[in-house]
Amino acid sequence: MAVRAASGGFVALLLAGLLAAAVPAADRVAALALPDSYPVATDVRLGGDEADTRFVMDLSRKIDLHAFTLADPYRVVVDIPEVVFKLPPKSGQGGRGLIKAFRFGLMMEGGSRIVLDVVKPVRVAKAFVMDAAAGDPARLVLDLVPTDRRSFLRQIALDDRLLSTAAPALPEPQADRSDPRPLVVLDPGHGGIDTGTVAPTGQMEKDIVLDFAKRLRERLQKSGKYRVLMTRTDDTYVPLDERVRIARKAGASLFISIHADSLPRKEGDAQGATVYTLANRASDAQAAQLADKENGADVIAGVDLKAEPTDVAGILIDLAQRETKTFSVQFAHDVVGDMKSVARLHKDPVKSAGFRVLRAPDVPSVLVELGYVSDRQDLKSLMSGAWRDRTADSIATAVDTYFATHLAGTRTGAK
Ligand SMILES: [Zn+2]
Repeated sequence: MAVRAASGGFVALLLAGLLAAAVPAADRVAALALPDSYPVATDVRLGGDEADTRFVMDLSRKIDLHAFTLADPYRVVVDIPEVVFKLPPKSGQGGRGLIKAFRFGLMMEGGSRIVLDVVKPVRVAKAFVMDAAAGDPARLVLDLVPTDRRSFLRQIALDDRLLSTAAPALPEPQADRSDPRPLVVLDPGHGGIDTGTVAPTGQMEKDIVLDFAKRLRERLQKSGKYRVLMTRTDDTYVPLDERVRIARKAGASLFISIHADSLPRKEGDAQGATVYTLANRASDAQAAQLADKENGADVIAGVDLKAEPTDVAGILIDLAQRETKTFSVQFAHDVVGDMKSVARLHKDPVKSAGFRVLRAPDVPSVLVELGYVSDRQDLKSLMSGAWRDRTADSIATAVDTYFATHLAGTRTGAK
């Protein structure tokens, strides 16, 4: 998973082309039909220095904005209506003055977001959008000045008080509780502003794993044996703890998080799929590093970590957690056992580390890294519809094995 902004039209076009063969026709039409009613962001500039830094984004028309700050790490978040970003490649990868780097993209249907990483506590001195005038486009302008940590945190507290009364409830996926079949929750990683890891050739983890999860859902549903719920079904971001909460609230019997990994060239050439379970102590240094990367998704998407509920741990008694852990590890081995005949596996395919999305104390949970987009052979597989189908089939078989052998008669149906 890399910090990379969704960089404009070129990547989108490239991706649309590459996915065209792999995505069902209906989804393809939806993905390509960008209503021209959306405002378009065409350019972005940084100006000033550490005493006063200005962020300017050119827009096809005036829009509303809401800017606020987040701590640890220090960030400035700008929420705007859904915008089509057609910015120059590599926009946001560099910084200036108080701004280290920034990202932009879809946050939810109808809403886009810009997240700026800042080098120290800042105050948003100005945040406004200027109307187009005299041949100039409309411009979103943000002026940042340095402040001290105390004032920074006080501002956050004030913003929180305003927001807590105004925050709209987001629609969330629901499961049919009257249906006695076991509920499998599929969790495609990342989404929206958080692209996940990006292949050297531009393909994004968030798109690969969403398509894969939809194929797996189809197979599980076709068997008639399970109910299936997805934590996201479109290109929006879902905070990590929210993914866990969705599974627990719906009474999931199994939680499968889907990801793809990458490795910088200098760190060797890892390849193949790996299945992870939760552990306090990571099984090796690479697993620990990966968990850190995946756990950073909320930072990338501009989610306030403090505001996330932390009551997930410590709710259930030890025994249930031990049982959950045992089941998770059993399922991880089932997945590896069935995947090995159709997909290339990592040389050490079952690992564990402290992934935040695997922390439900009462839902057996695994995280499948399908492969490395940094590896040519893996990427070829990941972009192949036939490979996705075969691999989804093998995971569906593992789900069958899991429920048939480990849970026969003990845990069918919703809890
Ligand atoms: Zn990921």
